[in-house]
Amino acid sequence: MPDGSVGQPISRRLMLRLAASTSVVAAVATGDDDVGAHRKRIYIAADDHTDYMWTADEQTYRQAFLETIDHYLDLADQTDDRPLHFQSRWNCDGLLWLREYEQHKSPEQVDRLVRRIKSGHISFPMTVLVSCYGAMPAEAAIRSLYYGGQVERRYQIRLPMAVAMENQTLPLGLGMLWAGSGVRYSWRGICGCASKIKDSASRRDHDVYWWVGPDGSRVLMKWYSLYKPVTNGSYWNEGPGGYAEARYPEAAIKFVETDADFQSRNPHHVLGLFGQGWDDLETKVELDDPVNSFPAVAQRMTDETRQVIVSNELDYFHDMEQTHGKGLPAVQCSFGNEWELYSASLAEVSASVKRATEKLRAAEAMAVMVEQERPGFDRSLDGMRDQAWIAMGLYWEHDWTADGPVSRKQRAAWQRKIARQIVDYVDSLHDLAAKALGELIGSDDPSDLKNNRRIFVFNPLSWERTDVVDVAIDGDDWHVVDKANEKTLVSQVAVQEGHTSLRFLAEKIPACGYRVFELRAGKTQPAAATIRVTDGKMVSAHDTIIVSPDGAIDFWGATRLGKVMIKPGARGNHLEPALGKISIESSGPISTTVRVDVARPIARTTRVTLFEHLDRIEIDNRLRENFSSVESWRYVFNLRFPRTVHEEVGAVIRASTLAEGGDYADRNARTDWLTMNRMVLMRDTTAAVTIANRDCLFFHLGDARTDPMDSSSNTIYALAGGQVDGSKLGIPDQGGDKTFVQRFALTASSPKRTIAAAMRGSMEFANPLVVGQIESFDGPLHPTELSILNVSSDSIIASAMKVADTRDGFVVRLWNLADKPARCTVSMNRPITSCKQVTHVETDIGPMEVADGKVAVAIPARGWLTLQVNV
Ligand SMILES: [Zn+2]
Repeated sequence: MPDGSVGQPISRRLMLRLAASTSVVAAVATGDDDVGAHRKRIYIAADDHTDYMWTADEQTYRQAFLETIDHYLDLADQTDDRPLHFQSRWNCDGLLWLREYEQHKSPEQVDRLVRRIKSGHISFPMTVLVSCYGAMPAEAAIRSLYYGGQVERRYQIRLPMAVAMENQTLPLGLGMLWAGSGVRYSWRGICGCASKIKDSASRRDHDVYWWVGPDGSRVLMKWYSLYKPVTNGSYWNEGPGGYAEARYPEAAIKFVETDADFQSRNPHHVLGLFGQGWDDLETKVELDDPVNSFPAVAQRMTDETRQVIVSNELDYFHDMEQTHGKGLPAVQCSFGNEWELYSASLAEVSASVKRATEKLRAAEAMAVMVEQERPGFDRSLDGMRDQAWIAMGLYWEHDWTADGPVSRKQRAAWQRKIARQIVDYVDSLHDLAAKALGELIGSDDPSDLKNNRRIFVFNPLSWERTDVVDVAIDGDDWHVVDKANEKTLVSQVAVQEGHTSLRFLAEKIPACGYRVFELRAGKTQPAAATIRVTDGKMVSAHDTIIVSPDGAIDFWGATRLGKVMIKPGARGNHLEPALGKISIESSGPISTTVRVDVARPIARTTRVTLFEHLDRIEIDNRLRENFSSVESWRYVFNLRFPRTVHEEVGAVIRASTLAEGGDYADRNARTDWLTMNRMVLMRDTTAAVTIANRDCLFFHLGDARTDPMDSSSNTIYALAGGQVDGSKLGIPDQGGDKTFVQRFALTASSPKRTIAAAMRGSMEFANPLVVGQIESFDGPLHPTELSILNVSSDSIIASAMKVADTRDGFVVRLWNLADKPARCTVSMNRPITSCKQVTHVETDIGPMEVADGKVAVAIPARGWLTLQVNV
């Protein structure tokens, strides 16, 4: 899509359209549907390439989708009497095409389309549109396919393909999430433009391969090397390896039959040339167009040496799998990030999507609890939910370059709209579920409720935990009592950003469950703060920290390890030099917060909080003015030649190349900004540091931000935001935003800390305990404590617990974070009566055995598994 491709420009709005003709091409010359092994089989697949909100806006694309589908439905009808290989076929490159068709066409017309999907004349991938995935939380990547799951169930079809197109890079874990969602095949072509990958336009290690996930799952991938223009004056990406490989179908066929380089890497009988539409709005070709009509080309070019097949892409993959599948190589690596990086040019909007994806966990887990008592309580949100799933598939639409006919301003406004669709749904479900839960929790002692506030503290995570809770209060004349034992708890009043809260330590909050506390009037004898603080120096039982007047951390000593964690002379959380004002914002028996206010260059507030009973150090940065530059938070740790792993997309992977024993490709990759998701774990032989992350999308590993990663570096930069590839790519000036929240938590530990332990700690930081008001006291739920999920494993966590999209029971999605297979037992608050394994998009796979109301599961190393249960 973006300009700057090799070759000379052609008209963007080129319409491959000739005058309608009545002369249908007569019977096939050979009359031969035989796909015998003696001939090469070349599958040519026509599709558009949807550059949504780049080439044109939503309304214009809607019209193009509807008209194009109708056009190819007609062509399918017109070619029904031809031999199979010469019938018209059309491939939509995103399910949004189907969604628009469902919403704007009659049931009869939709029925006609579905029949053509089933007959193999129109195909759809499971992906909503062409997206970039490197910045996506795993659950967002999965939810972005959820509309596909609905479609599969609604029409009794399967969608075994997914596409991520044009962007030069691809994360490792995505293939595994796709495979778990029922995807078996993917094809890919790149732009070879707007890229810093020097070898993006050179050969790949393999052109067709099994994309193997960290768990051993696999997707058959066709990702040809980007070769060269197939005709004079065309772009590279309009030939094999590009995103419009078959734009010049005859030339492309000749190319793959004559180019020695291509043939040496594709010695197969089965070849695929996919993609016809390029940066144009739509691609409607008539049957009598001898140059561009795929049926015409296939028929003309089929001879004794080759069978050319008008393809629905699936036919290619079936043939490839059957004919060559056993001999294909395996590729298991990440190619890093490129165009997804531009989502950091709207850093706060992108952070809002990331935060909402995380908050969804609490909203859905509470909803499961409520659903058991009030089935369908949130039905009014179904429309918002479905739109949110679509929005998850749209937010990282690949045209973040924002350099097309649609202006940057329009693109930015659209990104905000899509983000709001996600955030609004999550907030609505969260509020509705929390309120309903507050009405359902009972009381064994309603007498003392007149003056007291009773609250539940809900833990959205699948393990019991102890964490700090903030309850909003008026005034400061309150204390808190644990309802399970009527004990008064130690608490403190904390004021932050104008909000006053009572802060206390909530102990042993059960997995996906709550405990009940009561706020009562009157102060208790204040307990002394044990964390000592002088100027910027803070000393707790766990750590000693020195916060400097620019908000950076100049010293960090981990007491238990007896080790200095920030490299002496270097710093942590360093944005830029500044002279700010240090103050103690709050101090008490639960936590102590040092606050730094900086007026310039970028006005901001940084809070550093140490806890009495928790071993994490929380850092809360709030930028309070707009910025145009590329900004990042630098941390230099006191670790020698450490190894670094980080949460990528559905996988925790090692930040080094395959040659170094890591997870990144040795070539065709970009590694200056790696996916940060919820954590980075860095360790040497003496200690480990976990950097938990709630808001930022990417980090750089190494000293110089513009270099590729330095896999043994002790330095990271968390990207605060900016146009990392210059002012021509992405949204300038953060779209005018003036407020940015960017929070990290640091934990020092032994170098033996497991990835599961680091992820649990990071998820606790990203999923605060939820506080809800108990409004009614005769509810059916237990008055002091309830847990609805038990997962009996240290390495297996629940990524999601939700009401099934079909409302038939509940869905539990598990992730094994260990490097070896693990088993666990899954149980709920009520006996499980039936269970089936489903894809991640909730389509049936098969029944699971239930014994004693529980389900035993085994998950491969680093694998994911989704269950649907009834209780
Ligand atoms: Zn594109």
